[in-house]
Amino acid sequence: MKLLIVGKPGAGKGTQASMIDSYYHIPHISTGAIFREAINDKTELGVIAKSYIDKGNLVPDEITIGLVEERLLKDDCKHSFLLDGFPRNEAQAEALDEFLVKHNLKLDCVLNVDVPDDILIKRIVGRRVCSNCGETYNLTFNPPKRADLCDKCSGKLLHRSDDKEDTFKNRLFVYEENTAPLIEYYQNKGILKSINGDQPLDEVFGDIKDILSKLED
Ligand code: ADP
Ligand code: AMP
Repeated sequence: MKLLIVGKPGAGKGTQASMIDSYYHIPHISTGAIFREAINDKTELGVIAKSYIDKGNLVPDEITIGLVEERLLKDDCKHSFLLDGFPRNEAQAEALDEFLVKHNLKLDCVLNVDVPDDILIKRIVGRRVCSNCGETYNLTFNPPKRADLCDKCSGKLLHRSDDKEDTFKNRLFVYEENTAPLIEYYQNKGILKSINGDQPLDEVFGDIKDILSKLED
């Protein structure tokens, strides 16, 4: 299956993508996670990406599109992939379409995780991300078993530098301006499926499984 997962910042895209990856063994490609790894490794890409991410702005398309295309060309993406956080604007969506046509590929479904704005901020302030494997937790809604340590790899859990309230407000604005129009873009292609993301993790995942099981038929 070739899938996208879209939604506002904090909607639960990364959390659900990780559950989809574990259950269906579909490679989870998160552009945000790729940038965060580059920032951790202090690479040239990381230094550039950080200057945009810390303000809640989008990393320029010239950098992001090439990075995703390079990742999609790897062997593990031949039969399936799940893109999380990409595309984030119309230019990226069009570039992805061109890439798919060029490689004779087709998206099966775009999962849109829908959550009201007042819930998002509560999720964002409590979010903690593993500095080693990228697994996501929430101090209130999905706490780790041991304080500040990842259940999966025992890595140190960190509060993302862009999860401050002010930066979050800009990310929400950037979403409305740039990313929200993609809902209609994929609706017009007939492949958009919206899910109520304001439910416990397992119930959101249950709804996603129902959608994906119908695609498998
Ligand atoms: P996104 O990738 O869309 O920005 P995340 O998956 O990182 O969102 O989730 C944002 C925060 O909300 C995390 O702290 C995560 O643990 C928490 N979260 C995700 N899904 C749910 C849910 N269904 N209910 C409560 N909290 C959730
Ligand atoms: P995320 O992990 O998806 O919340 O992304 C964190 C940050 O990384 C975003 O606020 C952007 O600054 C940057 N980013 C992630 N994906 C993209 C993308 N497709 N285009 C531009 N910037 C991105």
